[in-house]
Amino acid sequence: MFYFKDIFFTKSFCVELSMFLSKQKQCKKFMFFRVKKQKINDFSLSGELKDKIDLFKQTLIDFNMMKVLVGLFVFFFGTVIGSFLNVCIYRIPRKISIVFPSSFCPNCNNPVPPQYNIPIFGYIMLFGKCKFCGEKISVRYPFVEFITGLAAFFCFISFSPLSAVIYFCFISTLIVITFIDIDFQIIPDLLSLPGIVIGGVISYFVFGRSFLEIVVATVTGGGIFYVIGKSYELIAKREGLGGGDVKLMAFFGAFLGLKSIPFIVLVSSLSGTILGIYLMLVKGKDTKFAIPFGPFLSGAAVLYVFLGEWIISWYLSLLIR
Ligand SMILES: [Zn+2]
Repeated sequence: MFYFKDIFFTKSFCVELSMFLSKQKQCKKFMFFRVKKQKINDFSLSGELKDKIDLFKQTLIDFNMMKVLVGLFVFFFGTVIGSFLNVCIYRIPRKISIVFPSSFCPNCNNPVPPQYNIPIFGYIMLFGKCKFCGEKISVRYPFVEFITGLAAFFCFISFSPLSAVIYFCFISTLIVITFIDIDFQIIPDLLSLPGIVIGGVISYFVFGRSFLEIVVATVTGGGIFYVIGKSYELIAKREGLGGGDVKLMAFFGAFLGLKSIPFIVLVSSLSGTILGIYLMLVKGKDTKFAIPFGPFLSGAAVLYVFLGEWIISWYLSLLIR
């Protein structure tokens, strides 16, 4: 028996309910709040359970409402972290400490007053201009804060608390990697190499993958890109894939496991190729024009975290049919 908001449920009810919820979870794992009224009606009711299920329905709806409300706070927390990620994006490639000094204007070096350090709102209050020198502030700052907030929100509603924290840290790292790669065409070893180790440790202890799988996934992930990069270099006589991409892919292998590798390789190369063709045809760039590949790899990895299992099973069902 357990109590939930002054209603008690018997053990048999709990067993049936957990069976029902796990059935729901299989198809709608990524959207907790989708478990709604008519879905519960599909569940065959056995007599006296009906009243309790009615009560549970309401409690579940209340609970989901609460979860969305708490989610708003989580979103705000995410934007605060996003503000810190902006600092990392600017300072890591320039080798400035990420702790000191506090935020400053890159143009006039004046410190940003605390009231303008509030994520997103700070940018709006300043009308997108530095208070001292009037230099335009890139719209990228509030954008990074916003997407970090979204990442926190979706991690919170999609995963158990521990997994949510882990995936949020993972996505935050990828946001930093993405924007540094866009600016400088590098992926700092400072982020990818510890990622391989920490990702591997989490993979083993939290996600329960075997040591062998983690090693194989790390080597396969990095290896695929190393071979592609080297072959391209031999044929085209210039660097196609950077060493940073190889290490990033090894990081994904260690953290997300073997199954994620074909998914990330396919999705990132497909989206990268589409953008490449678009740039050549529409913007008239030539084939020697280099686009950083880190953002595509990171985007594919985030897609895998949230929808990977679902997309893979959908794709396999198409093949089997
Ligand atoms: Zn300034």
